[in-house]
Amino acid sequence: MTDIVDKQTRSRMMSGIRGKNTGPELALRREMHARGFRYRLHAKDVPGRPDLVLPKYRAVVFVHGCFWHRHAECRFTTTPSTRAEFWGDKFARNISRDQRVHDTLTNAGWRLATVWECALRKSYHVERAVDLIAAWLVSGDVEFEIGETDVRDAGPDDGQSAQQGRQSDACRK
Ligand SMILES: [Zn+2]
Repeated sequence: MTDIVDKQTRSRMMSGIRGKNTGPELALRREMHARGFRYRLHAKDVPGRPDLVLPKYRAVVFVHGCFWHRHAECRFTTTPSTRAEFWGDKFARNISRDQRVHDTLTNAGWRLATVWECALRKSYHVERAVDLIAAWLVSGDVEFEIGETDVRDAGPDDGQSAQQGRQSDACRK
């Protein structure tokens, strides 16, 4: 897929990603912390320096930018129309690094969640994402992945289950 993004969008994509402590990651951390989960950040002694490490659950969480990490079938996974070779190489390197980190961690007995940034665009999506992560943590499943489509029914703009979502928010607060 080829896409042309305007300058602003491009610079947003460039600035947000691969850096630590991006907005979506902070939002996720805050919500996790508010629910009582305790974690280490970017632990140097864990392969790939995951964004969150939850030793109690032997679990790590990566928050991945869709553009850089090439979230499959995601509307944010655009491909710049110029310098195709440059981007192709860059994306290929990112994908193979992610795969390597994934294999190293799971072989070492870590459980691994990938949270795509498209799942963290609204606060009620972040809450829904943390619901799902919390369920995964206690489930014992090895792997877990959340994208936009997994949290889409969580908010007022998201259709029928909106009312339900608001009610559960009210209960928790
Ligand atoms: Zn995505």
